[in-house]
Amino acid sequence: MTTIQSPLPTQLQTVRARIAAACHACGRAASEVTLLAVSKTVNLEVVTQAFEAGQSAFGENYIQEAVEKIMGLRHLPIEWHCIGPIQSNKTRLVAEHFDWVQTIDRLKIAQRLSEQRPAGLAPLQVCIQVNVDAGKAKSGVAPDEALALAQGVATLPNLRLRGIMSIPEPASDFVAACALFARVKGVFDALNAQGLALDTLSMGMSADMEAAIQSGSTMVRVGSAIFGARARVN
Ligand SMILES: *Cc1c(COP(=O)(O)O)cnc(C)c1O
Repeated sequence: MTTIQSPLPTQLQTVRARIAAACHACGRAASEVTLLAVSKTVNLEVVTQAFEAGQSAFGENYIQEAVEKIMGLRHLPIEWHCIGPIQSNKTRLVAEHFDWVQTIDRLKIAQRLSEQRPAGLAPLQVCIQVNVDAGKAKSGVAPDEALALAQGVATLPNLRLRGIMSIPEPASDFVAACALFARVKGVFDALNAQGLALDTLSMGMSADMEAAIQSGSTMVRVGSAIFGARARVN
């Protein structure tokens, strides 16, 4: 009998090695950076394979697609992160099914998530999305609006503010990427200086995780480097 090894565990290992090397290069411990596997467009079987290869935190962009996976994989202790935009009419689904939401950029959405979080579930762990380059992805608050939003979110009973997330436009090179990520780190440090006690700085993807880690990222969101190129763009 021949066994054909799926490349997925290998790709996960490669990504983990990249994270460890990037941490080593700037004197950080590899344990300071969490790997979030971005599983948008990936089916249940493949998410299960990744789980079996030791990956337990997954990020999803499309709410409906995500909820189907979350329900289908209820038997696995997976931590699910919403990393896509949330319309008002989707907040209940998000509040009922996810563990984290990284894309808070309006107080109104945060308030709805807090109100709709079912009693008996842990508080929803949330990050404020910050837009440091006014890039094409219009989501996210400007850096100078982040403090007010964070202070508002921090008062909501069923949310727990953990940090900030950002998706800068792809930069031309490593140095340019670091400059953008440094702006995000600056916002993170400024909020902490105001007493917010944030522990999560979510930045860096397949193409730029090294620059993000060098700039202080504590969570990289990696899709294609683990699961391969996506047919659908986003
Ligand atoms: C798709 C996506 C990622 C992962 O991107 P890759 O380039 O495939 O690693 C990370 N964060 C967000 C918000 C995404 O939408």
